[in-house]
Amino acid sequence: MPIANPELIHSELFRTFGITAFFTERQGGVSQAPFDSLNFGSHIGDNERSIATNMERLIAHTRLTSQPHQAKQEHGIHHIICRGAGHLHKTSADILISQNPNCPIAIRTADCLPILLADPIEKIVAAVHAGWRGTAKRIVVHALTLMQQQGASLKNIHASFGPSIGSCCFDIQEDVEKQLSNSHLHANDVIQKRGKTYADLASINLLQLQEAGICGKQIELNHACTACHPERFYSYRRDHGKTGRHLAVVALPEAI
Ligand SMILES: [Zn+2]
Repeated sequence: MPIANPELIHSELFRTFGITAFFTERQGGVSQAPFDSLNFGSHIGDNERSIATNMERLIAHTRLTSQPHQAKQEHGIHHIICRGAGHLHKTSADILISQNPNCPIAIRTADCLPILLADPIEKIVAAVHAGWRGTAKRIVVHALTLMQQQGASLKNIHASFGPSIGSCCFDIQEDVEKQLSNSHLHANDVIQKRGKTYADLASINLLQLQEAGICGKQIELNHACTACHPERFYSYRRDHGKTGRHLAVVALPEAI
């Protein structure tokens, strides 16, 4: 049976600027269970050749000019500024920035919130890995500052959220609650108590973006919960760590 095309969620918001931005789902690759099938996470037990094949299929399907730059993710707030064709960096970074066409960038997730940022006027894009640790460290606000240092303006920066674990499924312990509560004045309002305590990473990151001045039509949300939809998404929490990784990719258009 032929393998289906990679399943992707495209950013409609970024498309209006001619910027390529998408979030991969789990269908349409060649990895075997429990990584089935469009896994992009290396060194987690999947066959590395399957991951390479998944990348080749993704590039062919999306017409990316190269594989995206990817870094070692460690739930910190380090960043790298990428240039040229993509590859796997040995550097640790949870924020990747690109100012060049033909220089796609990506981060990997399985429950964590992927956030893609773009200033279409100054032509600066960023990919941000916002798990609960990154959210507690206000990683998206760090990314905005870095983009401004490269010439971006807050009034022009747009954000697209990918799927992440929702407050329906993300129960947290007291220490996590404390750190997330401290990340924004109103974070407590979106931390729910119903027996256990549940956090909503997307809502907290939204609050942080709004506080920084990014709001309204500048933000595109995604309300799918990764843990609720095993047929569409990997979920580290649901699958007890034995699962694949999605890719969130953003690429500037080629110069005209
Ligand atoms: Zn859920």
